[in-house]
Amino acid sequence: MTPPPPSAATLGCDAAPVLRERGQREVFCGLTGIIWLHRKVQDAFFLVVGSRTCAHLLQSAAGVMVFAEPRFGTAIIEERDLAGLADCNEELDRVVDRLLTRRPDIKLLFLVGSCPSEVIKLDLSRAAARLSTKHAGTTKILNYSGSGIETTFTEGEDACLTALVADLPTDTTGVSSLMIVGALPDVVEDQFLRLFAELGIAHVHMLPARRAGAMPPVGPDTRFLLAQPFLGETARALEDRGATRLDALFPFGAEGTTSWLHAAATAFGVDEMHFRRVIAPGRERAKRAIEHSQAQLAGKRITFLPDSQLEVPLARFLATELGMEPVEVGTPYLHRRHLAQELALLPKGTLISEGQDVDRQLDRVRAARPDLTVCGLGLANPLEAEGLTTKWAIELVFSPIHGFDQAGDLAELFARPLRRRDVLKL
Ligand code: SF4
Repeated sequence: MTPPPPSAATLGCDAAPVLRERGQREVFCGLTGIIWLHRKVQDAFFLVVGSRTCAHLLQSAAGVMVFAEPRFGTAIIEERDLAGLADCNEELDRVVDRLLTRRPDIKLLFLVGSCPSEVIKLDLSRAAARLSTKHAGTTKILNYSGSGIETTFTEGEDACLTALVADLPTDTTGVSSLMIVGALPDVVEDQFLRLFAELGIAHVHMLPARRAGAMPPVGPDTRFLLAQPFLGETARALEDRGATRLDALFPFGAEGTTSWLHAAATAFGVDEMHFRRVIAPGRERAKRAIEHSQAQLAGKRITFLPDSQLEVPLARFLATELGMEPVEVGTPYLHRRHLAQELALLPKGTLISEGQDVDRQLDRVRAARPDLTVCGLGLANPLEAEGLTTKWAIELVFSPIHGFDQAGDLAELFARPLRRRDVLKL
């Protein structure tokens, strides 16, 4: 049964006080983003300049995949480098030369900074500029930081796209274009591109593009839609280059996707009746698919611990379309401007927290005992051992969850742990 739509009187956390916490954190670092980014840009390579720990993180996050021609690797900083006994720049140049000689298919190379490279103050932006000149005409070399110092794992993508924005060509055509910002699985990207084409929006670009040579131009005629809520720096860099952000809900669930597409339709003058006609089949499919999980989720209480930065839009989706009750929505960073519409739809009384102090947050989870807690991998097992049901936040970043055709799967990702709990109780 479809839950009754929440009334306006019960909604609105846009002006709610935010609990700000700073303490011990339990999150992955920005290197994790390489796992989904390397699949997206097919002729790019991510060279982490880091320690053996960084290499292990990447290997374990990537699972047991073994590629003949991998698209990421680690230039290991050894102890003598850390002690300042070796010239890391010479070493790095040698590694890059060797890599590009062996792999002429690499058209875009990211030098990815890590905690160790930052600790020894290895200047990767200078290294990237130096190596770009050397390999001009064959490979573009950019840099960003994936360091885990004071960051969370989705910031890796934000830093990577910010580096790309600085390098985008300037759009001088004078023609309005739409840019979709955020690495989406190809299948989801294709669904959105089909919808924009049906709406009649002619010039649509993706950032990142699938190939290094196809990165979109940017300028004052660029309107952009964020596909992910964790791209604050990328958005700022685009705005600095004259582009305009279109404000909308994020494309999760039937309502979020409708709002997101509608923002583009409005900006590009698409007739309202035509818009409704184009989106109607997808919207209906999404609503029907979501219904499958409604009985399981309606009325259930959910807490999000700060992890992926997807927390606020996902809590909005679960509250407004599935009737769940968010207890606490914690997020590493709260980007109020980008999340304003989302916050306005969260039920009044939801505790919004920013940052992390893991012990205090766990105390609140234990006191509230929500039906479902969305958290990092390291916290899930201890909470399960205490009889709490959990969902790994990182799974939500790795799974296709955007758009109408993924709305049912997204709801199911939350319903599954509850169903499993019910089965185990029998
Ligand atoms: S970047 Fe830092 S947090 Fe990430 S794996 Fe390397 S050392 Fe660990």
